[in-house]
Amino acid sequence: MPTASSWPSFDIPTVDLWNFMFESPRDCGFPEDKVIYRSLDDTKRYTYAEVKATSKAFGNTLLNGWNWQKGDVLCVFSPNDVDYALIVHGTLYAGGIIAPANPGYGAKDLAFMLKNSGARVIVTQKALLGVAVEAAALAGLLKGNVVLLGEDESHSPEATHFKQLLKPDQQRERPCKIEGKDLAFLAYSSGTTGLPKGVMLTHTNIIANVLQVKHSVGHNYSWDKDKILGILPFFHIYGLTTLLNQPLHRGLEVVVMPQFNLDAFCTAVQRHKTTFLYVAPPVIVQLSRGPNVHKYDLSSLRMLTSGAAPLTKELVSFVHRKFDIKVNQAYGLSETSPMTHTLPWEEWWSSVGSVGKLFPNMTAMYVSEDGKEVQAGETGELWVKGPNVFKGYWRNEEATKNAITPEGFFKTGDVGFQGNDHNFYITDRMKELIKWNGFQVAPAELEGLLLDSPLVSDVAVIGVHSEEQHTELPRAYIVPVEGHKPSEKLGQEIVAWLDERVAYYKKLRGGVRFVDEIPKSQAGKILRRILKGLAEEE
Ligand code: AMP
Repeated sequence: MPTASSWPSFDIPTVDLWNFMFESPRDCGFPEDKVIYRSLDDTKRYTYAEVKATSKAFGNTLLNGWNWQKGDVLCVFSPNDVDYALIVHGTLYAGGIIAPANPGYGAKDLAFMLKNSGARVIVTQKALLGVAVEAAALAGLLKGNVVLLGEDESHSPEATHFKQLLKPDQQRERPCKIEGKDLAFLAYSSGTTGLPKGVMLTHTNIIANVLQVKHSVGHNYSWDKDKILGILPFFHIYGLTTLLNQPLHRGLEVVVMPQFNLDAFCTAVQRHKTTFLYVAPPVIVQLSRGPNVHKYDLSSLRMLTSGAAPLTKELVSFVHRKFDIKVNQAYGLSETSPMTHTLPWEEWWSSVGSVGKLFPNMTAMYVSEDGKEVQAGETGELWVKGPNVFKGYWRNEEATKNAITPEGFFKTGDVGFQGNDHNFYITDRMKELIKWNGFQVAPAELEGLLLDSPLVSDVAVIGVHSEEQHTELPRAYIVPVEGHKPSEKLGQEIVAWLDERVAYYKKLRGGVRFVDEIPKSQAGKILRRILKGLAEEE
């Protein structure tokens, strides 16, 4: 029997996100003038009422100026910014779908996403305008469909700032009815195998996850005493739910950080007295190593919740001993909006190493290779079911069929076991996906590119664990083209060749190894386990 959550279940409203955030009673009655988004230097801030009014005005700009239709896609290509949520909620107001893109993308990555999602409009920052315009041209977007957000509001010949497009006096009622089952976000993930795919997340998926957080660990923080430092990228589902959606529902203030830098991070915690943070493991790693961290007053921090990649017990205990900072874990995936598990705050130490308890309204089981549920304590693949499980992969029925069982269980591709205390553990990953510092790297994508190199005859990419860097590093196993002898220099040439073609987080930081042939099954599938074995032997 699949395990049910040990937290009580609750009703999920059937409305869409706009209604949930702005037309429903505010959580604990927080005031309309509560600041929700504040810039790091405190020069810009938006209250809940301002987020609502400006989002609605942007929604109207889409409806009036672009003849926006229900289901049209808008891509946001930007680092974290106080304006981000306005674009997101304005688009949702107009019945659109948001496809958030990694600001580290080059023009080709972005063009792939624009084409694949069918985006009509792209919203970016001045600093990224060149890449956005190039990608828009590659993807065939109409000229003029690139819009700016952010600090720099000056006009540019290629794009207008969204604030200059707002006409608050031309407000229309929403022309279409948006329902909970309609799509709200397309989050790109490679899933278990292959190239990045659009993960279709509905309004209900996101509302469910915001409420699942609230009904599990949400009592630990409240609008009148807590502040979050918004360091997780908004384009990733983890930031999107916890920083762009949760705060508007709960009335929490988010101090928005565009990019991580340890000293700026510590300065921000000290200055804004932030109390609670969602982070990925690299932040904890950097904290543990920072030579100046002890010079800052970080005593306002009550909990750091780490997710997106594995975190060791040793690191948690080290950071606690050294700086008196508590860290608990959460676990989830783009496909689950994202969180499915979290460790109750009161168990942060007694159950350290676990990803915690299953969220309310969910069931889960660990399953053996032959598809049978295993007993508590035995290792298997984690399957989960609940209202936060995605609708499927965008225009990819086959991948959807492979990922979700007819009974509605989503196969996570992660391996672990359940402890006797209702706590879940993740110990390994059986899917291809590599995570470098919490960012997804799809081996199939790098393999496809490397096969175009004049030096590569065949290739397989895997993730190798770096003890020192506390993350996986993408490594290529390569059969060189005839006439090219394996050597360190050849390896460096291949790494450099790929560096020019991929975003910074997809680089072959794990290097290159040469092999006579790539191990494959009879069906031609790469046998990655064999390569992982080689890496472990090393
Ligand atoms: P993403 O779709 O980018 O959120 O990536 C989801 C994947 O990140 C999961 O399938 C896991 O492999 C990994 N992941 C997320 N949270 C954790 C965690 N707390 N511990 C171990 N792996 C995690």
